[in-house]
Amino acid sequence: MTAISEDDIWAALAELDVPNTDKNILEKNMVNNLILKDRNVSFVIEINPSEKEIMEPLRRAAEVKILDLPGVSTATVALTAHKTAPNSESKVKPKETNNQKELAPDVKWIVAVASGKGGVGKSTTAVNLALSMEKIGLSVGLLDADIYGPSIPRMLGIKGKPKPLPNKQIAPMEKHGIKLMSIGFLIDEETPMIWRGPMVMGALEQMLRDVNWGKIDILVVDMPPGTGDAQLTMAQRVPLAGAIIVSTPQDIALIDARKGLNMFQKVNVPVLGIIENMSTFLCPNCGHRTDIFGHGGAKIEAEKLNCNFLGEIPLELDIRVKSDIGEPVVISQPESSYSNIYSQIANKIIYTLSGEQPRIAPKIIME
Ligand code: ADP
Repeated sequence: MTAISEDDIWAALAELDVPNTDKNILEKNMVNNLILKDRNVSFVIEINPSEKEIMEPLRRAAEVKILDLPGVSTATVALTAHKTAPNSESKVKPKETNNQKELAPDVKWIVAVASGKGGVGKSTTAVNLALSMEKIGLSVGLLDADIYGPSIPRMLGIKGKPKPLPNKQIAPMEKHGIKLMSIGFLIDEETPMIWRGPMVMGALEQMLRDVNWGKIDILVVDMPPGTGDAQLTMAQRVPLAGAIIVSTPQDIALIDARKGLNMFQKVNVPVLGIIENMSTFLCPNCGHRTDIFGHGGAKIEAEKLNCNFLGEIPLELDIRVKSDIGEPVVISQPESSYSNIYSQIANKIIYTLSGEQPRIAPKIIME
């Protein structure tokens, strides 16, 4: 197949006129960060935040134009606002986009849990937060979109396949009162998969649109780690009400976390806050506190970036052991100090989304 060059891409882009102007997209100097890797093309179109709706057709036209070029397999184009996203402390309203209507019409808030790199405890945090939100009285869905390592079925001890419904949708699985869907239910965990850009988005759209989530308050989406094209496309196409960044305290992870933050800001998704995971180790024998990966880095970073700091989750053996055996601590050790931390963070997130006062947690059962 013919190899594509950057010049071919620029030439094609010169044919795209900017709405409401008599100039093309290059004359207006709106294209940035062009990346051509193998046969995959990505770039951003810089716009004013107020022009998002008007420029969306331009973004789509740009993707179609590039995909039409011989030798191109994927084209990922994102709109970027000049200004940064709204202050994370503002009360975030559920987004009203056409996309949302199609994808998950009855979900009030879709919230992404993301991390700049793998292994920081993003999935563990997503599971325990989703369960904490259910405990404080919300109707909750959890979507495992971590296509590179879908771990939520294992963390919740669920096997089997979701059932098809007569209306051609599929019913989500259920556990501990929350609805669940994972790419892990559809593919064999042991089978290595190579995901190409469009497949990633296709799979995610299917899990949003073709799963009968019903009327729920919040859908927590466990995103694939990192800030590459797949993540950027997801962040842009899924009608997210906000994103939460999970980081360990190490500097290197924080650099990655900052990349995550930038990614969401680029596509105008409000970052609801940063969580520091594996923050402090409390020795179960002597109670001595050790900051294995350092401590407090995420809080300082959050302040610098003018972003909410949502809390610190300790490095705790039980958190790992319980999620490995499919019994997350929020369920198996509801009275523990760490379950309480998850609950507090869940409250803060809901407060940021709704502006409502924190709810009372957890439910008390009288015998
Ligand atoms: P990610 O989704 O970021 O790849 P995981 O949630 O799969 O990360 O977590 C990676 C490993 O770290 C898992 O074995 C998990 O049980 C463990 N883990 C996560 N958070 C904690 C924590 N706060 N304390 C102890 N172990 C944790």
